Amino acid sequence: MARFRMYPTSEQEQQMLLHCAHARYVWNLAVEQHSHWRRDNAHHRPDGKRSGAPSFAEQCRQLTEARAASEWLRAGNQTVQAQALKDFAKAKAARFTSGFGEPTWRKKFVHEGFRVIGDDRVPEYEPDGRPRINPKTNKQVMGRAVTVQRLNRRWAQVKVPGCGWVRFRLSVKGKGARLPAAKTFRVTYRNGQWHAAFAVIPEPIDKPGTGEVIGIDRGVTITAALSDGRTLTCPQLTTRERAQVRKHQRRAARAPKGSERKTAAYAQVAKLKAKEANRRKDWCEKTSTMLARTYDLVRFEKLSIKAMTAKAKAKPDPDQPGQYLSNGRAAKAGLNRGILAQGWGLLRQRTGDKAPGRVEDVPAPYTSLRCSACGWIDKNSRKSQAEFVCSSCGFTCNADTNASINVAAGQGGIPRPRQSAGAGGVTTATSRSSAREPQPTWVGIPLF
Ligand SMILES: [Zn+2]
Repeated sequence: MARFRMYPTSEQEQQMLLHCAHARYVWNLAVEQHSHWRRDNAHHRPDGKRSGAPSFAEQCRQLTEARAASEWLRAGNQTVQAQALKDFAKAKAARFTSGFGEPTWRKKFVHEGFRVIGDDRVPEYEPDGRPRINPKTNKQVMGRAVTVQRLNRRWAQVKVPGCGWVRFRLSVKGKGARLPAAKTFRVTYRNGQWHAAFAVIPEPIDKPGTGEVIGIDRGVTITAALSDGRTLTCPQLTTRERAQVRKHQRRAARAPKGSERKTAAYAQVAKLKAKEANRRKDWCEKTSTMLARTYDLVRFEKLSIKAMTAKAKAKPDPDQPGQYLSNGRAAKAGLNRGILAQGWGLLRQRTGDKAPGRVEDVPAPYTSLRCSACGWIDKNSRKSQAEFVCSSCGFTCNADTNASINVAAGQGGIPRPRQSAGAGGVTTATSRSSAREPQPTWVGIPLF
């Protein structure tokens, strides 16, 4: 993602604010429509079938109708409005993996922005350099590209519908002032500043060709446990910074409504949160590059939908069996999980971008309970959050590392054969991915 500060003229700014309002309106309409559908779907239709949620195509037809009915909407740019629908459809489809969950209501002054799709047409190519052919028409696929023009070393301009050329400053730390190339970009307006974020897909990184497979288990305590025993931690705010956040939140709460002090305090909070987000993004970029560069195949534990969307509630205390975490701790754990989930989603996405075709998601209901040495699955093997002791063979390991070794082996997704109460089950090595079946020695699984 390449992000640049935009400097629209006041006339352009008025038009862009209008785009923001239209995009927000259309997005919120889609949110509302889907929530209605979820409620109504509780009642089955008379014929016993469930009606589907409105699809993207269906919503586009509705947009045409809405535009016909509303002069305000009709005055806006149709592409900007359709892109808002497309963004919604994407967010909806990625709600389990993006880390952001269900798309939610966008607020005025808070989530201001719109997406612009490039109006330039460029021929598309396959990764191996052959032209990409549409099988139906037998013609080369023409993709979109954003029109960007360089003005000088520091300045460039980009076309925004209804605004003509809008200037932006080319300043990416340490990357030189290169022109971004992308299919679309997103314009955002926050704290009185306009930014253009180009969705630049990074160049694929060549595989090292060592045949090495790595498994990654994502968790709250250890952000990413690798099957080679390494543990990676996504940076968060320091204890001191977190204390500052609380301090400014307290000040904001005490300040009178609408006061300058309140705004200033909230701005301080936002600044610290942005700092944390930047650290997280930076870590994801570095880690995904490292993964793509070092390993031929990267296997992620498929994140469980339940864990991703679970609200903070009393959870069993892993350190004291039979005890429950106090609400404060549970809430904090829930919050941490939410923040981390964004990092997990981004790490998976960026690794996929940099190592196309070399990333797999392993469905993993039992990865944390399966012994990576002998394959025995037993919940009693998981002694605590951190410790794994196999109840069958006695293999001991860090619990997260053990899980990541299972992920590397593509194990854990096979439903356990039904056993009598208390007994464990064994899953044998399978050929889930016959083309790339990992060799046990590569991932540290003892050969027996
Ligand atoms: Zn074992």
